[in-house]
Amino acid sequence: MSDNACTTPGLVCAHHHLYSALARGMPAPQRVPSDFEDILELIWWRLDRALDLEMIRWSAKLGALEALESGTTAIIDHHSSPNCIDGSLEVIAQACREVGVRVLCAYEVSDRNGLDGAAAGLAENERYLSSGGRGYVGAHACFTLSEATLEAVAGLAEDLGVGVHIHVAEGLCDQGAGERLANLSRQEWLLAHCVHLDQELAGTIVHNPRSNMNNAVGYASPARFSGRVALGSDGIGADMLEEFRIAYARAREEDVTTTPELVWSWLEAGWELVPEALDDIVRWSYEPMDPWHLAFTPGVRPVEITVDGSLVLKGGQAVLVDSNEIRSKAAEQARRLFARL
Ligand SMILES: [Zn+2]
Repeated sequence: MSDNACTTPGLVCAHHHLYSALARGMPAPQRVPSDFEDILELIWWRLDRALDLEMIRWSAKLGALEALESGTTAIIDHHSSPNCIDGSLEVIAQACREVGVRVLCAYEVSDRNGLDGAAAGLAENERYLSSGGRGYVGAHACFTLSEATLEAVAGLAEDLGVGVHIHVAEGLCDQGAGERLANLSRQEWLLAHCVHLDQELAGTIVHNPRSNMNNAVGYASPARFSGRVALGSDGIGADMLEEFRIAYARAREEDVTTTPELVWSWLEAGWELVPEALDDIVRWSYEPMDPWHLAFTPGVRPVEITVDGSLVLKGGQAVLVDSNEIRSKAAEQARRLFARL
């Protein structure tokens, strides 16, 4: 917490999918998904296969803009576009740079699109990270990864000196993840969701409370783990004060002794993952920026933001980009995307 009652460092979204920024309003699936696997197959895997570079570029710009407009200056992204893999991470990184938001990228390696798809995913992570890009080696989830692919992911991360960003036991279909990762995961790994994780693993757990509720996968109860816990949005925007309030309400529903400080500590863990965000300054529309206030105060907005010493938001408006242009170009790309679905 800052000395100044109405400022904080830049907030961190520790698990995002910028490619989902165009998804709202997409055509309904052929039938109503009845469980988490259905949601993946009928919605997300249909959407990600339709993405091209222009859609990726404008969804990332829109997602970064919405993050900035919520006081989030650092995004840890997890990207998937199986029919447009090569160069996708650099497009996302460039889009975020233009808006003035920090991003740590990862490409989602998976065997769900065949061996070639997995190899292309590995190559994209390697290309981006070895050319100086900041991020992780991305992997979908154990239930779509063979043992060989999982080992290739872990090996590449080891070689490049970075962690792996992977979904862990998000739904019951991935319940075996704990056992498969027990001897593989490292402190630098990011473990998204961990709803059905049955053992402690090395790495940071990223709790995505609203997404978990939306997918009806159950409560992750992150307080049961002894390791570091951070907060993410899983692609539903990057308004981390709102995510904090939802995380608090959901934790409180489970255990009435939960304090806002505990949940705020999950938000603060983002600064251990992206320490540079501590140098960013967000001046808010409310004071004091104290967990006990914020847990019960909706609508708190950033007024001014500096990232790395540069002014990127003034009077609540992005400075480096034209937010109206981003919204209209993103809407155009969303129409192209929906026509393909
Ligand atoms: Zn996710």
